[in-house]
Amino acid sequence: MRNALIVLIALLLCPASAWTQVKLSVHWEELTADDFRHAIQQSQGTCLLPFGILEKHGPHLPLGTDLLNVRYAALHAAEQEFAVVFPEYYFGQIFEAQHEPGTIAYSTHLQLEMLQETTDEMARNGCKKVIIVNGHGGNENLLPFFAQTQLEKPRDYVVYVLGLVESPPGGPPKKSTVINWHAGEAETAKMMISRPDLVHLDRAASESGADQARLKLPDALYTAIWWYARFPNHYSGEGGLATRELGEYEMKSWQDAIVKAIQAVKADQEGLKLQNEYFEKIKHPLDTRP
Ligand SMILES: [Zn+2]
Repeated sequence: MRNALIVLIALLLCPASAWTQVKLSVHWEELTADDFRHAIQQSQGTCLLPFGILEKHGPHLPLGTDLLNVRYAALHAAEQEFAVVFPEYYFGQIFEAQHEPGTIAYSTHLQLEMLQETTDEMARNGCKKVIIVNGHGGNENLLPFFAQTQLEKPRDYVVYVLGLVESPPGGPPKKSTVINWHAGEAETAKMMISRPDLVHLDRAASESGADQARLKLPDALYTAIWWYARFPNHYSGEGGLATRELGEYEMKSWQDAIVKAIQAVKADQEGLKLQNEYFEKIKHPLDTRP
């Protein structure tokens, strides 16, 4: 009540600058329409789209692990370097886990159309710089492809993709000596920070997360069933070895990487200019000279 009164007095005394004194939420869905206008201004049109998925995460983590973790990192980063954060988004690529309960695998065309319409709508509302923050390994091919298709036709905004981030060396040593890609030590540790109440560490060893290496092919040869061939339980690693200490380090590294990305994108004055120059040129390729 007292805070509301102070804000009201500030508004009455100094209407022009009063808005800068009101702390705006970084959550898109928590802003009023009028506050949204100010938030877009404050973020310099920079918005985050944290991208998760719904899929099994070993025997011990929730289906929304990637969504919960990426949103925790993105929201904390946006608090540090202001940006508007889009609501829950999990319409990604996960065809390799359809045999497990709780996986939601949308069709390919819908994934691309949904993402395009989402970034188009974000941009129409002033997000001229959209940073897609990926939180799911299965999106690592989808997202650069999507970003590349932004050159298909003219747009008045730029899409940037921040792929999965490797923590720099220097954190607490990892105890596991095997591959820990999915629901393993590091990912479990991050969940111990974002939603510790959803981590069932005692169940982590009830299934095997070992690499079963059932496909004998050279590394350079890609085929879709590779993941299932190696990790049929949709579990890769030893989640039971996770610690809060590792989680703090991993989550902090991720947040730092997102903060850096927001700062770099805000500073980027060339991306849209070059994109516009390019779109102008593609109308008359015969006039393009070396
Ligand atoms: Zn995951």
